Amino acid sequence: MYNVLIIGSGCAGLTAAIYAARANLKPLVLDGHEPGGQLSLTTHVENYPGFPDGIMGPELIENMRKQAQKFGAEFKAGAVNEVDVSKRPFKIIAGKDTYEAQALIVAAGASARLLGLKGERELIGRGVSTCATCDGYFFRGKPIAVVGGGDSAMEEANFLSRYASKVHLIHRRNDFRASKIMIDRAKANEKVEFVTPFAVEEILAPQGHVEGVSLRNQQTKETHDIALNGVFVAIGHDPNTIVFKGKLEMDSNGYLIARHGSLTSIPGVFIAGDVQDHRYRQAVTAAGSGCMAALDAEKFLEEHKG
Ligand code: NAP
Repeated sequence: MYNVLIIGSGCAGLTAAIYAARANLKPLVLDGHEPGGQLSLTTHVENYPGFPDGIMGPELIENMRKQAQKFGAEFKAGAVNEVDVSKRPFKIIAGKDTYEAQALIVAAGASARLLGLKGERELIGRGVSTCATCDGYFFRGKPIAVVGGGDSAMEEANFLSRYASKVHLIHRRNDFRASKIMIDRAKANEKVEFVTPFAVEEILAPQGHVEGVSLRNQQTKETHDIALNGVFVAIGHDPNTIVFKGKLEMDSNGYLIARHGSLTSIPGVFIAGDVQDHRYRQAVTAAGSGCMAALDAEKFLEEHKG
């Protein structure tokens, strides 16, 4: 039996773990299927306060983990496949293990979206990727594409230009969601070519690995193919909330809804990070909400002693 069980080990979950551990609650953190969350898949983080020269995402997340461990947080691997939040103690099943906890902090984050094209999922590891940091190195000297028009797409295009011979930045509109500074950086990069307004219609992989993409111009409807070896999909994320369907309030996109701060409709269940935030989605806002969830959990446990 745990006082606090935290689902997710990204920025929000680890900050919650630091606070809960320092409150002597001996929290258990379940790592989930993407340990470290999105920061562990990113490169240089320049906007997390306290690091004037920036810090690499994996290093930042590792530091948070060490900090939580230092104060007594326990970590276990495993993705949650079932939860029972109908009564306390809450029951959380991850693989073959069942855990019980008096308070639950859901910080399961969000996962990368795919384009939904035929064969795309099967081609992950064979030229399709959602993680530039993880896979960029495999495309040394080769042409690749990044799909998307947000900050992630700009960031990945710049990062991948270190390895790739050329980066086609494919976006379905001529306008971008990305911030001006990120667009300017990508535009100034001579290896990055903007390809708009084009949608990827097909990933060409006749031999079982990516050899190109077939594109359609969204205005003229003309199509053309580009030969390349890698497709990095950077089109946003979906919240990891399937196990909470019908159990916690969520919006039409599956994001959990907080009643007030981190509080949900179920007393003792708190939410933090990207699992409940589709607006800000920053490391620092996730960390802040993780802190709120731990403080709320601490207050709840204090009020429901014994
Ligand atoms: P995003 O801002 O939601 O952008 C997603 C992009 O993918 C949009 O341009 C969208 O096109 C496109 N898209 C979505 N579904 C698509 C589909 N099925 N086919 C083709 N294109 C599709 O997501 P993000 O870039 O991952 O950024 C998420 C948040 O993290 C943002 O708040 C961002 O500022 C932040 N972020 C910040 C940094 C940084 O500051 N270093 C780095 C990365 C991310 P439309 O525009 O046409 O809808």
